[in-house]
Amino acid sequence: MKLINPEHASPSDAQKRKSEKPVVCYPINSLPDNNLEALKAVKKKSRKVSELVVNPRQAGCIEIPKGCFFKIVSVEGPQVGDLNLWNLHDQNEKFFAGKTRALHGTHLSTGDRLWSNFPYLRPMATIVDDTLDWYKFDEFGTSVHDVIGTRCDPYTEKMLSGLDYHHCCHSNLTKAFGSYLKIDKTLAETLIHDVLNVFMCTGFSGKTGQYIMKASPVRPGDFLEFYAEIDLLAGLSACPGGDCSVKHSSDIAQCYPLLIEVWDPGEVERKKHIEPEVNSYQHEI
Ligand SMILES: [Zn+2]
Repeated sequence: MKLINPEHASPSDAQKRKSEKPVVCYPINSLPDNNLEALKAVKKKSRKVSELVVNPRQAGCIEIPKGCFFKIVSVEGPQVGDLNLWNLHDQNEKFFAGKTRALHGTHLSTGDRLWSNFPYLRPMATIVDDTLDWYKFDEFGTSVHDVIGTRCDPYTEKMLSGLDYHHCCHSNLTKAFGSYLKIDKTLAETLIHDVLNVFMCTGFSGKTGQYIMKASPVRPGDFLEFYAEIDLLAGLSACPGGDCSVKHSSDIAQCYPLLIEVWDPGEVERKKHIEPEVNSYQHEI
């Protein structure tokens, strides 16, 4: 955080330096088209082939073949979900929240892509529908579906409150991912990564820059829908913070389940899908 009373005096040209106009760090005009309209047309041909209910303060994993759609649905009550994505065949390739944020901004919506980590850096999924797109940004500068908040975890909780809390999203994802792949929890934990905070309403305080949250505007029936660009394993935690209006990393909040549905447009459409290549950067020799 910036000091309320800086220790160093402003230079004489401070105002001039501050008034320099910013530019976008990563303009995305040169990216391949996201084919959103075509994807929406394919989506109409889809039928539901599987689903997973994620219970409160727990996580679950589900596979999504490339060329299929999946949606995270609010059921019963306002609930935030923490999403991890892995390449189904190589879990070292996983969702890269930081670069996704640098490319698409702090909060995602329809048309944005979820990118994988280095050295792969390719689209893992494309958002095709978002029933909360009407929310935009509110008067506090907050919005939904952020890629800024990492995930709630027991280590930060211990550091801040001294308590050992076992149902943080980090822990839930570790347990679900480890048992799904039948791998040791210690190894599983190394593959858990920063999340897309589905339905969570967050931002940064205009005064201090601190990470802030407020009650999610999500209601039963709302959903966020994706197209799988590669074969995916998705992990979703129903955050112990519930709607994240007060606190997470505790059993205080009212929590509800979340639902993941997988929709298949059929073999003919799936076979038309062209999987994005991994990043073609050539290292120096
Ligand atoms: Zn959480």
